[in-house]
Amino acid sequence: MTFAYHDAHNHLQDEWLAPHLDKIADQLTALPLSAAVVNGTCEDDWARVSELSRRFPWVVPSFGLHPWDAGNRSPDWLEKFSAVLAAHPKAGVGEIGLDRWILERARPDDPRLAGLRRAPLDEQIDVLNAQLELAAKDNRAATIHCLDAWGALDKVLRRAKLPTRGFLLHAYSGPTEMVRGFAERGAYFSFNGSFLDEKKTRHRDTFKNIPRDRLLVETDAPAMPLPQPWRTYKLPPSPTGQPINHPGNIEAAYAGLAAVLDLSVEALAAQVEVNFTRFFGR
Ligand SMILES: [Zn+2]
Repeated sequence: MTFAYHDAHNHLQDEWLAPHLDKIADQLTALPLSAAVVNGTCEDDWARVSELSRRFPWVVPSFGLHPWDAGNRSPDWLEKFSAVLAAHPKAGVGEIGLDRWILERARPDDPRLAGLRRAPLDEQIDVLNAQLELAAKDNRAATIHCLDAWGALDKVLRRAKLPTRGFLLHAYSGPTEMVRGFAERGAYFSFNGSFLDEKKTRHRDTFKNIPRDRLLVETDAPAMPLPQPWRTYKLPPSPTGQPINHPGNIEAAYAGLAAVLDLSVEALAAQVEVNFTRFFGR
């Protein structure tokens, strides 16, 4: 094998992965994985992202306030956010974004949302805009999460000043018809391994329409587990019984996307490496 994997989006700092971290790191090194963008999601986990970036040379740190966590932010969150960015001149901004799914479709007892105050969309938009502004100021790689809010996100992206290097729409699940407009404004799109679920035909078909020079691949581990036959790297479930996605499943995500695009894994990996390096500047 003559290529290495690049995971455009995960959460290696997550407490669900913490008990297994040494083993996971060895497995990723053996793949080999050459880089993983580790996304902070709330004020509390930024220090852990920073620590991981000092410990592992392949960790690309990124800091952000996720829309799920926007409602619980502290009054001085923006000063803390500016400070953590200033301490990491090469870090990305993310995970940031908009999520109407938690407001309208999530089950009230979803254990992943326990204790969260769900910020209304207008409040999420303010938090997103503040973070995009800082990303644009330093031309940092911005990673955006969007669920069920594509029209609202489009409006934000049309009005905001954006980083000239572009931005990533992670685990892109939006309409195929919007790909072109987003790409014209600088979007990259990452394919998530969970899209290999048989029922997710629409998600896979959309990726046939992504410009090849904007294509990335990701796990979102420990979130977004792959469907069973693709789950080659396994971890025990969380204390609440949620399946935990192992970041090593980046290998299966590449294999699955290569099959969708009718490419060899080697050809896909070569393209993704060029895109990853251009966007994240590694
Ligand atoms: Zn994520």
